[in-house]
This record gives sequence, structure tokens and C-alpha cells, in this order.
Amino acid sequence: MRTVITGGAGFIGSHLVERFLAEGHEVVVVDNLITGSLGNLEHLRSHSEFSFIRHDISHPLEIDGAVDNVLHFASPASPVDYLKFPIQTLKVGSLGTHNTLGLAKLKDARFLLASTSEVYGDPEKHPQREDYWGNVNPIGVRGCYDESKRFAEAITMAYHRAHGVNTHIVRIFNTYGPKMRLDDGRVLPNFVGQALRGEPLSVYGDGSQTRSFCFVTDLVEGIYRLLWTDFHEPVNLGNPDEVTILDFAREIIALTGTRSTIAYNPLPADDPKVRKPDISRAQKLLGGWTPQVNRHDGLARTVEYFKQRVRAV
Ligand code: UDP
Repeated sequence: MRTVITGGAGFIGSHLVERFLAEGHEVVVVDNLITGSLGNLEHLRSHSEFSFIRHDISHPLEIDGAVDNVLHFASPASPVDYLKFPIQTLKVGSLGTHNTLGLAKLKDARFLLASTSEVYGDPEKHPQREDYWGNVNPIGVRGCYDESKRFAEAITMAYHRAHGVNTHIVRIFNTYGPKMRLDDGRVLPNFVGQALRGEPLSVYGDGSQTRSFCFVTDLVEGIYRLLWTDFHEPVNLGNPDEVTILDFAREIIALTGTRSTIAYNPLPADDPKVRKPDISRAQKLLGGWTPQVNRHDGLARTVEYFKQRVRAV
């Protein structure tokens, strides 16, 4: 099997590359490295089945030879990143999805789109099920990401319906683990970095907003299983264990044993107040898939990873 993974140098993408290589696939990574890092792939560069193409998938790409699977994971994905690269974010979700769908159609390959819980916006339904259409501000600061992924889902379904492409859509909820960038601006790298440096943890707003954090190996397992199904509508993947951001900060303070305090900062615009996946569709569809790693264990593994990065900085 030959599998193309766009965004393969990113956090989730690089975990997928490892998994597909371990399953015996030949893996071709396509990444322009605006938010991804070759460091995530360093240990794989001498692998005989691995290759890397530096390319912005918002521009068409020809790949010689057979391709069995196309996974489109390229996109800035943290709020700080997509605020910094709004146009690139809109282009990779729209033009990049069009280009990767075209590649899948040409090669008669399976296609899998990395979508997001952001398609639900600031949700009025809780927890979020796949049949909820969402509450997105199209012109807000998060609109560049939310709307590009909503468009990406729409064009993916159109390629399935009009061209019969074997498409899959995963809606990824907050995911964490080794290989996250310390400076990606997300809550977990921010808090862990601050805790390890002994600085106050920057809680935005009063910290009553909730998120539900999934360890990356659980996500990767779900994605791997989804690719082989005949199911074409979106599937939520995440861990429904919900926590307020304030409690999350306290957990990280306790786990790292830091003397850091909590500092309250302004809440960014359009920050969703709650987020928690309903994962019953995935549980039914994916052969008993369910998250295996609890937050305490996952956080401990992630803190170990960040300790090395903080020392290196
Ligand atoms: N957040 C925070 N402090 C930070 C970074 C984020 O309190 O230093 C909050 C943010 O306002 C949001 C939640 O943590 O409510 C998760 O933010 P993140 O950027 O990780 O991603 P999101 O889930 O909003 O896409």
C-alpha cells in the first residue's frame, strides 16, 4: 500500500506517518513546513519506505505511480497559528482539499479528510453529535479555520456523491501528546511550558469554558480504523472526558509540582464556551474503538516530552 499524508510533518500527521509505516505502508509526506517541523520526522528519514516532498498542497501536485490512500492533514490548526496564517488556512482547507481529492480520484485511492470540532463553532448543543450543524461566526477571527473545514467537508461529500470517491471525514476534537509544538499557542503547551518555567499559567477568561482532551495514540487508532470503513459521513473522534480550563490548569500545576500561580487574561473572541464529543458513532462503527489513555497518564507522558523541549530552549 502506498499512502500520501499531507501535513505529515505536523503533530498529528507525524504520528500517522509512524503508524502507517509500522503497518507496512510506503508513506509519502507532503508538507510546506509553515507550522510542521522536519524534527518530527527526523527518526524516519532513513526508513526505506518513507519519502518527503516539500510542497504547498494549495497548489496542485502530481505524484508518479500508484497511490492507495490520501490523507489530508495539512493545515495550521491551533488558534494562534491560523490567526497568523489566515489566508494559507483558507487556501489549504479549500484549494488543498480540492487538490487532494483530485489526486484520490485520479489514483482511485481512499481519501480521508482531517476535519475538526471547530465546524460546530460555539456550540448550542452539548455534547456535540455529528448531526448538529454548528454555530459558526463566518467573519470572526476563527472563521478562516472553521469555514475552510466546513467547505472541505462539503467538497469531500460532493466528490463522493458526484465522482464516487471513497471518502472519509474525521472531526478531530482537542488532541494532545508528544510532538506538539511548545509555542503553538494551545492551552496545553502554554500551561506546561509555563509550569516548567515557574511562570504563572495564563488562563483566558474565568476558566469556566470546557474542553475534552484526547491523547494522540487514541486518535490515531480511530483514524486508522475509519479509513477501512465504507462510511462516508463525518465521524467525531476525541475523548469525552470534559474539564474546565481552570481545573485543567490546576491539574498541570499538581502534576508538575510547580510553584506557578494562575493569571487571568482576557478571553479571545469567539472562544467556544463548551466542547465535548459524542463518540457513539465512532464506538459503533470502529470495532469497539474507545479512548484508552486517561488524562492523568496522557498528561504525564506529555509533560515528560515537554521537559526535554524546555531544557533545550
Ligand atoms: N486557553 C487558556 N490559556 C492559554 C491558551 C488557551 O486559557 O494559554 C484557553 C482558550 O481560551 C480555550 C481553551 O483554553 O478556551 C483551549 O484553547 P486552545 O487554544 O488549546 O484550542 P481551542 O480548543 O480553543 O481550539
